[in-house]
Amino acid sequence: MKIELETIPVWDGLKSGSECFICDLMNIAQDDALNYYLGPAIMVPEIRVEINAKGFCPTHFRALADKNKAQSLSLVLDTYMDQSKKDVYPLLEKIAASRSARKALKAYEELEEYSRGREKGCLVCDYMAMRLERYIRTVAALYRDDAQFRGALSESKGFCMHHTLALAECAKLELQGDLLEDYLVLLARLLRDNLERCQQDDIYLSQKYKSENRDKPWNGCEDAHKRCVRKLFGEGRILSR
Ligand SMILES: [Zn+2]
Ligand SMILES: [Zn+2]
Repeated sequence: MKIELETIPVWDGLKSGSECFICDLMNIAQDDALNYYLGPAIMVPEIRVEINAKGFCPTHFRALADKNKAQSLSLVLDTYMDQSKKDVYPLLEKIAASRSARKALKAYEELEEYSRGREKGCLVCDYMAMRLERYIRTVAALYRDDAQFRGALSESKGFCMHHTLALAECAKLELQGDLLEDYLVLLARLLRDNLERCQQDDIYLSQKYKSENRDKPWNGCEDAHKRCVRKLFGEGRILSR
């Protein structure tokens, strides 16, 4: 399937010198989606139907609440809760009418299953997944088509572990043969080199707190602990898939 490539944000991301520019782009994608579902879109009946049916995962519902747009979210929740009540009340009635603990627990199982399914679907995660695919395929396509990009990527700080895996998984959609192999080897080399660099920075940071090193420069290692966490686990991850 042909997708729309995102050459400009990917090139800008690579030039930014971030520990993982896919993380950065995904943080933006997440924010875009959250703002979308608190904006004029919620007045469109079809979108409200979609929200009522699918909704958001717990993390993104909380993120929507944290945006403090009470007017929008209260509107969304009004109909979302109507739908939830329609699904949940019959199960609660079943529990109320059960004449034994065994039957009550059975009905609770149904409620749990419903709740798990309801928490799984997420329109924000879906949007992020669509953007992620575009970004990681653009990285592979630029690697294939643009020698300058290939050079810059091989000199870069690479990606977090989480997005390295995503890039490797999608690589064959854009690359094949020797180029595919070279790309997969490059991704692994970048991860190794940059895990090493992050750890060296982290060691420097830990030593900096010793009294005898008080006057030494920070050498840009002030945030090495945060960069290590980011390199290992990434940010802007899709939670509900
Ligand atoms: Zn990442
Ligand atoms: Zn989500």
